[in-house]
Amino acid sequence: MDTNLPKSSHPRLVIIGCGFAGLRLAKALKHDPVQVVVIDRNNYHNFQPLLYQVATGALEADSIAYPIRKIFAGQKNFFYRMADVQRVDTAANTVHTNIGDIHYDYLVLATGSLTNFFGIESIEKNAMQIKSIPNALNLRSYIFQNFEKALLTEDPVQRQALMNIVVVGGGPTGVEISGSLAEMRKHVLPKDYPELDLQQMQIYIVEAGAELLGPMSPQSQRDAFEYLKELGVNIRLNTSIKRYEDCKAYYSETEFIPTENLIWAAGVNGAAVPGLPDAVVARNKRITVNRWNQVEGFTNVFAIGDVANMVTEDMPKGLPMLAPVAIQQADHLAENFRRLAKGQTPVDFKYHNKGVMAIVARNKAVVDLPKGHFRGFLGWLTWLFVHLMTLVGFRNKVVALTDWAFSYFSSDQALRLIIRPFSRRDVKDDKGKKTAEHQASTPQYNPTPPAIQTPAA
Ligand SMILES: Cc1cc2nc3c(=O)[nH]c(=O)nc-3n(C[C@H](O)[C@H](O)[C@H](O)COP(=O)(O)OP(=O)(O)OC[C@H]3O[C@@H](n4cnc5c(N)ncnc54)[C@H](O)[C@@H]3O)c2cc1C
Repeated sequence: MDTNLPKSSHPRLVIIGCGFAGLRLAKALKHDPVQVVVIDRNNYHNFQPLLYQVATGALEADSIAYPIRKIFAGQKNFFYRMADVQRVDTAANTVHTNIGDIHYDYLVLATGSLTNFFGIESIEKNAMQIKSIPNALNLRSYIFQNFEKALLTEDPVQRQALMNIVVVGGGPTGVEISGSLAEMRKHVLPKDYPELDLQQMQIYIVEAGAELLGPMSPQSQRDAFEYLKELGVNIRLNTSIKRYEDCKAYYSETEFIPTENLIWAAGVNGAAVPGLPDAVVARNKRITVNRWNQVEGFTNVFAIGDVANMVTEDMPKGLPMLAPVAIQQADHLAENFRRLAKGQTPVDFKYHNKGVMAIVARNKAVVDLPKGHFRGFLGWLTWLFVHLMTLVGFRNKVVALTDWAFSYFSSDQALRLIIRPFSRRDVKDDKGKKTAEHQASTPQYNPTPPAIQTPAA
């Protein structure tokens, strides 16, 4: 079955994934003599850099997502199938999906990345991640649910675990979510929960490396550290969370932070699709490509964006997993397809780093440009502007701007609905009993928050 895709006199280019890379490539090929078929398991494009704002109630989920069919309305050579790709068969030029098989002449893998739990089962099972819109909405609801529960318990130990939040991973996502949670603690929670003593609520950011914002400049690392410290976030560097059981986040065999809220932002792997030879799948599950984004050993299979492992002289570990890399590779591949169609040799990809930034809180952001660094209000304004401009859809830009303006002038966040089943611990097995996994646990009270460490100079 070919999922009812129309026959075409043009070659068929199948793109798996409509993230930054897939979307950009499909758009760039709008006027080319090719049938573009995009497959994505979600019927929307998700603007991942703003997920943490959905998770902390600063933005509505609808303002960071956009329906794929609406983006491509009017593009005659475009076809979309909502499907989960299970396997590729490169010998038969076929993609196997949950809705049937799709044949291709050219295949582009743009499947992005998946959270890397480093094989720690207890964390994978119990921690919250922030890779998708359902994750972000779940996280927001879960934190507010735990505050509702904290009001009800008589047990101070359990109350603290319900209010404590541990963010694992000191990269941009970890820093941004910790800062946003600290602002929520300062401005939102005291209004909503006057009965709770918010002094008890501790926010931790735990990073295995020696600094926050590892890929950024030392100046940005120090600024982010200072900003988080000012906001009262407990920063633990050179520390790893090794397991998470019974609401205890263990940072050694015996020492732990009691928390019901563990947010895992410690790393990602490429989302390689099964079916490719093992030799082209790197250890971090990214697919090895040459400088034309062609998968090693194939002439008609390409990978772009986070899933592509392109090693260059200056980036021996592969290009960073960032939206600008995905966008630039998509533009470049579209151009190379045109060259191939004309019988010309493709051109090597070169990444142009236009800058990296991270926001910590209102008026607090850090920006690294190729030739300089700035921070503070200007950094914050730059961050807002860049993210607003790259959001897909006019409506989304207007809604995001309105939400941000409201938060800025009112020091409030309007979005705190709990829209998930009340407790994942209330799930029953089929005999109606609570399963062992879901039984309530009482973490030990740890009255002294771990000491704040300073970054290496
Ligand atoms: C919380 C967070 C914050 C971030 N912040 C920043 C930032 O500030 N700046 C920055 O530059 N980058 C940031 N990034 C990284 C950036 O989002 C990625 O680099 C970018 O999304 C990569 O684009 P992509 O197209 O390769 O993959 P994605 O955008 O991840 O898109 C992949 C698509 O493939 C689909 N898909 C995957 N597997 C399948 C399958 N088997 N079947 C069907 N569909 C499938 C997915 O549904 C998805 O739509 C952030 C990422 C996260 C998670």
